Amino acid sequence: MQFASNILVLHDLNLQLVQVFHHKKELNSFIENHKKTGENVGMVPTMGALHEGHLSLISLAQKSCALVVVSIFVNPTQFNNPEDLEKYPRTLKDDLALLKKSFDNCIIFAPEVQEIYNDSITSEHFEFGEIASKMEGKYRAGHFDGVGTILKRLFEFVKPDKAFFGLKDYQQYLIVKKLVEITQQNVEIIGCPINREASGLARSSRNKQLSEEAQTQASLIYKILQEVKSEFGTKSVADIKKGVKNEFEKNPILKLEYFEISDADDLEPISNKNTQNKSRAFIAAYANNVRLIDNIALNY
Ligand code: AMP
Repeated sequence: MQFASNILVLHDLNLQLVQVFHHKKELNSFIENHKKTGENVGMVPTMGALHEGHLSLISLAQKSCALVVVSIFVNPTQFNNPEDLEKYPRTLKDDLALLKKSFDNCIIFAPEVQEIYNDSITSEHFEFGEIASKMEGKYRAGHFDGVGTILKRLFEFVKPDKAFFGLKDYQQYLIVKKLVEITQQNVEIIGCPINREASGLARSSRNKQLSEEAQTQASLIYKILQEVKSEFGTKSVADIKKGVKNEFEKNPILKLEYFEISDADDLEPISNKNTQNKSRAFIAAYANNVRLIDNIALNY
């Protein structure tokens, strides 16, 4: 027993080597001091339950930023489903251990909900325009206002020069670019490649909620996207859509929420593939009750 408890203490001491801020005031003064050196600041906003996908963003941020602020905050206002919010994995201790192992010039901002929202857990409304009304915006009412609300606040606290976002959440990446334009925050938004499991499944904190069987079936999502990419040159968009729907209907575990082929800049759905513009295919699907999204560039 004694031995086990000693290990725990050492483990905890070790974790303290990662600088973790829970309050914006302390975070702010640390960053102000850092900025006096003239060095830049990068930010990687996350909801925790960190995985290789998050680490790939942090790694990219470190290449061009002297200090990287990783925020870990499960933002209540971007969840349209209370059950989803409740079951979202929260693994702060493991997250810190992972960051300690891999990185030395990053600090963590892990606030409580009250620190961000005081007593009013509500979203601000943003005029993101048409890009917010499709796909995730359509199926997750209020989601992007929630995303905008938290990121606007985080950018105000941290004042990063650059912020790094995964293209896995491609629509979110476009929304964030719009957000900094609307709010006139001077942050460069960098889109980072999608990091995948060996099976092709896009890494996600939600993958932890999948059974082994559901994980296996979920890897079909990327296989279908790859198939769509190869068919894009030869088949009509309508036929491709029909084929994708059929694939999902055949599957006992996956349930398609939407499949869309859209312009990569404004997310307008494409019905005629003879476009010179950049096109992307998007899928949202449930594996058992876990919601997964993924996307692929088709012609660029
Ligand atoms: P989340 O914690 O899910 O809110 O994600 C935080 C950031 O990590 C977002 O910018 C995501 O797009 C990004 N991210 C999550 N999963 C991946 C992945 N598999 N590859 C690249 N970026 C990712």
